[in-house]
Amino acid sequence: MSILRSGSRPTRTRKVLFALTAVVTAVGLVTAVGVGLPALASSGSAEKASTSAPWLNASKPISARVNSLLQAMTLEEKVGQMDQQLVTTLTDPGAACGDNGFNMPNPACMQKILVQQHVGSVSAGGTNNPIDTTGAGGVGNTGYDWANEYNMIQQYTIKNSRLHVPLIFGVDAVHGFGHPWQAPLFPQSIGMGATWDPSAAQAGGMVTADALRATGWVWDFAPVQDLARDNRWGRTYETWAEEPVLSAAMGAANVKGLQASSKDNPLRVTATVKHFAGYSQSINGHDRNEVLLPLNYLQSMILPSYAGGIGAGVGTVMASSGSINGVPATASHYLLTDILRNQMGFKGVVISDYQDVPALQTAYHVAPDLAGAIAKAVNAGVDMSLEVFAPDQWQTAILQDVASRKISKARIDEAVRRILTLKFQLGLFDQPCVRDPSKACVAATAANAVVTAGRDQTLKAAQESITLLRNQNDTLPLSATSKVVVTGPSADSMTNQLGGWSVSWQGVFGAGHSCCVGPANQIPPGTTVLKGIQAADTNAVFAPDQATALADAGTADAYVVAVGEKAYAEGLGDNPAPALPPDQQALISALEGTGKPVIVVVIAGRPVGLGPAENASGVLMAYQGSTEAGQAVADVIFGKVDPSGKLSVSWPSDAPTVGGDFNGGAPSPLGDQPKFFDQLPGTGSGQGHAYNPLYPFGYGLSYTTFQTSGLSVTPNVARRGTATVTFTVANTGSRAGTDIVPVYVAQPVSSVVVPPQRLVGFARVTVGAAESKIVHVSFPASALGESQGDINAAAAPTVEAGGYVVQLDKNDTTPYDVAQSAPFTIS
Ligand code: BGC
Repeated sequence: MSILRSGSRPTRTRKVLFALTAVVTAVGLVTAVGVGLPALASSGSAEKASTSAPWLNASKPISARVNSLLQAMTLEEKVGQMDQQLVTTLTDPGAACGDNGFNMPNPACMQKILVQQHVGSVSAGGTNNPIDTTGAGGVGNTGYDWANEYNMIQQYTIKNSRLHVPLIFGVDAVHGFGHPWQAPLFPQSIGMGATWDPSAAQAGGMVTADALRATGWVWDFAPVQDLARDNRWGRTYETWAEEPVLSAAMGAANVKGLQASSKDNPLRVTATVKHFAGYSQSINGHDRNEVLLPLNYLQSMILPSYAGGIGAGVGTVMASSGSINGVPATASHYLLTDILRNQMGFKGVVISDYQDVPALQTAYHVAPDLAGAIAKAVNAGVDMSLEVFAPDQWQTAILQDVASRKISKARIDEAVRRILTLKFQLGLFDQPCVRDPSKACVAATAANAVVTAGRDQTLKAAQESITLLRNQNDTLPLSATSKVVVTGPSADSMTNQLGGWSVSWQGVFGAGHSCCVGPANQIPPGTTVLKGIQAADTNAVFAPDQATALADAGTADAYVVAVGEKAYAEGLGDNPAPALPPDQQALISALEGTGKPVIVVVIAGRPVGLGPAENASGVLMAYQGSTEAGQAVADVIFGKVDPSGKLSVSWPSDAPTVGGDFNGGAPSPLGDQPKFFDQLPGTGSGQGHAYNPLYPFGYGLSYTTFQTSGLSVTPNVARRGTATVTFTVANTGSRAGTDIVPVYVAQPVSSVVVPPQRLVGFARVTVGAAESKIVHVSFPASALGESQGDINAAAAPTVEAGGYVVQLDKNDTTPYDVAQSAPFTIS
């Protein structure tokens, strides 16, 4: 998101009043009772297609409908389909039709942008939310308002565009439908990754899809399939994991949940695998800085995560904003066509990221003007541009490219064919309003109920995500009658527990940014840590500050201190060494000084330096763990739920070990980045050059204990074959629990350097006290593929024949602490 989107805005209140006046008096729209739909005036074009045009005939196959529509379209209409503009340009009360607040639709702007300039797609943009559309003085930004805006705009488009082509509406619904302020929001993806539960990601996708479908905004710019391999990067929380097998599994399940077909439409909503590719790999941890990516690393490590979503049939892919090896991804034919389409087999729509087509001229300077930028992007493989500054500029520049043959008409047809196919797959042409403009496209009156549903699935995911990192002397679980003193800046903060992309781009009101946060009257309903603990334990008290907390020391049985990060999005979250801030560390130290047990609940988008919290009685990572995070935390603290989350990212060490000379794995100071469990071995000797986390990837405690035994694996596997690993998980404790068992493979001798262990699969198994279960995990031999060859290797990975070893690690803080192993060969 460029600064242009996040720039200062006129106040919301003034805009609301002005917008309502504009719609009602200047244009004379009438609000229909109940659904808030305007009575629509036709633009009256003589050339308009009849409503019995062949592409409007739902009984014909999609390909035939697309063909007939393409034949009927002018070039101007076609290139308009490739242009996505902010919805706020349609709701600008003024004549400029610029990005000026999400007010009521302005028919003059709709006429200009949708009919005259043929724009085929709009997006919400992240920051702005619809004003109250009920006319009843609500706070706005409800499911109803989203649906109502959709209905008004979609109906206008279908009625007035010459060929009755519907718009497609895109929005970032990255952890649930994050905008309507009463919606339940799931844990951010990094917390979902800690569940190691693809069914939770699928359920999240389904809840989100229901909400999106109910409002009409059926293009979701999610999931993020970038890998979290650098903790400094501000978008770490939007990823599932630091490594590709877990990320691919979660992303594939999420795509399936989002897109699952209904009896009416092949796609319920379309998901977007983003940001293709290697977006997270900037050289210095800053968002959108250059990426230097060896092609063998791209092939072996980076692409498999995106492949998970693509293999699950994702409808769209968003290009990365970054440059890779000096070439902007948006302009890379190699990336967007040779790899994405020819190698990975993607068939859907490629969209640029926000304003990235003009950025080829304005930021990257690889094109002299907008026409040059568009030619580069479209010829590289971009089918749709997310926001060129204005649609007339897009039209002029791309038509110039076609006239000068910089872009062929065949390429335009190819892009438009993909876009129209997507619209047909989503059933957009077959909404009731195509045939009967007096009817809603979606049932706005029902939207609130759907948008606010799904709290149970959210809570379940939150419970599964909580990761217990430390539990000295089994301090946890606490008794629900103990006097728990709850304190800390995140104890009662919905803002902090939701993070970015919640209500608004930079988060809920209170996130502390100068722009782009939600309003004060839109704090999502849910349960904070304080409320969750108070509901479970009537003896619990709240200490709003350190002095009050310390004053309670004499009578407290334990402290629960909720600390961590504030909400942020994109570059505002970049941090050279994420850590608990000094005042939070001081609070924890002071509480520890009382001698009472201190349970630290970390509410953050990524691992943070813990300082004195490293020595606390208990440490729970709750992530930015959903609207229900406080309930989930309380459930774990009082033992109603056995914690089962395991880190999907490494937790960096943050203090050097004294005398760590010649000890590569010794802890090193915070900021010793990046570190991930599958980093390659080297010949270094300095402290901390090797993998030296405080808590390694895959680590997490439970209230019970598990033991694995009886590991075996298919002894000989063909290169294109599948191996099956079998082992027994025994619950050796006295209460039921869920164990997550990562399955790793080591390759003792390899032609190219490989990590000490690679994750190939995992099991998530619930076992009763003193019971055991036999588990089978299958993985394709191709999971062990590497680009073979010298340092200039660029080919797709292949699997080397030879000896391999399956390994299960102990669940402790020592990396690569192998509990069991079983050899096998690939031939
Ligand atoms: C982000 C994308 C997002 C897009 C649209 C960009 O700034 O990088 O992830 O989908 O905005 O809101």
